[in-house]
This record gives sequence, structure tokens and C-alpha cells, in this order.
Amino acid sequence: MNRLVPVKTTADVFPEYADTPIGLLLEYHNLRRTFDTHTQAKLLIGMCMDNRKHLIIPENFAYIIRSGGANLRYSEFKVSYAIAVGAVRHMVLIGHNNCGMVNLISRKKLFVDGLVENAGWEQERAEEHFMHFAPMFEIGNEIDFVISEAKRLRLRYPGITVAPMFYQVENNQLHQLKE
Ligand SMILES: [Zn+2]
Repeated sequence: MNRLVPVKTTADVFPEYADTPIGLLLEYHNLRRTFDTHTQAKLLIGMCMDNRKHLIIPENFAYIIRSGGANLRYSEFKVSYAIAVGAVRHMVLIGHNNCGMVNLISRKKLFVDGLVENAGWEQERAEEHFMHFAPMFEIGNEIDFVISEAKRLRLRYPGITVAPMFYQVENNQLHQLKE
């Protein structure tokens, strides 16, 4: 089943996202809607740290937490802050294709060698570091992960609308996800 739902016109936006900051993000980024003036954040965006991703959004529109694979399990205080102090009620989690947090074990040697060569770490320490953290940051599959992470956050923050999305790095388009 293809779970990606593209947004090429405003009619493509899921009804539950229309007239919300989530729909607005899709319009700004995918449809190049003219920027409105925002004086306060409306949205919290969780997205991967990957350098290939760049969002087209106006100033003040969103808090953004960038973390490998859009994994917010270790960023919870920041999520709570954006909700409690920043007063956002909507959240978007953006996964993307070819994410480095998928199948981390296949890049173990690259990771360890890189830490030794670039950072001056000892081999053994670099290996321990990888083995300790890789299971925490492994996401398995980009789409499955972002959907399960959205479900987890909905349970944790029942007053918040959480939308999982997918960013295609080849064309920089956001896609909605069928859950
Ligand atoms: Zn990534």
C-alpha cells in the first residue's frame, strides 16, 4: 500500500489538517503560499538533522527540533516547553527517505573509523559509544517510525494534534501519510 499522499493543491490537504497550522505548513512549503505575518509560533516541527532538508516557512511560524530520524524520544523536555510555554497546539513530525538512522549497524565501521580519524577518539571508546547509542537512535523504517512516534506523542500529549509526514529529498516535497 502506498501510504504517501502528495499535496499539489489545497484540495489535497487532509480535511483534519485544513485550517490548522499543519495545513498552513503544507501550503507554505509545497504550494509556496505567500507568507503571512506571524508574531507567535503556531506549530512545533520535529524533523531529522539531515542537511538535505530545508523548510520554506515564514519567520516566527514554528519551533523546530531537529534530531536524527525525527526521533523525539530524547527531546521530550523541549517538546513540553514548546507546548507549555510556546503555547503550540499542533505538531508535525517529518521523516524522510534515505535516512541515516535506518540500519545504523551497516555504518558501524564508518562511524567508528570517523570518530577515530576525525575526532581523535580511541578505537575501543568509539566502538562502545556506537554500541551504546545505536539501538536508541535506530529507527528501522522511516515511515513506520514517524507514524509510531506520532502515536506515542498523541498518548503523551492528548491535547495536541500530531501529524506524521514524509519529506522526499529528491524533490523537497512534503507528503501526508495514511495511517
Ligand atoms: Zn534522517
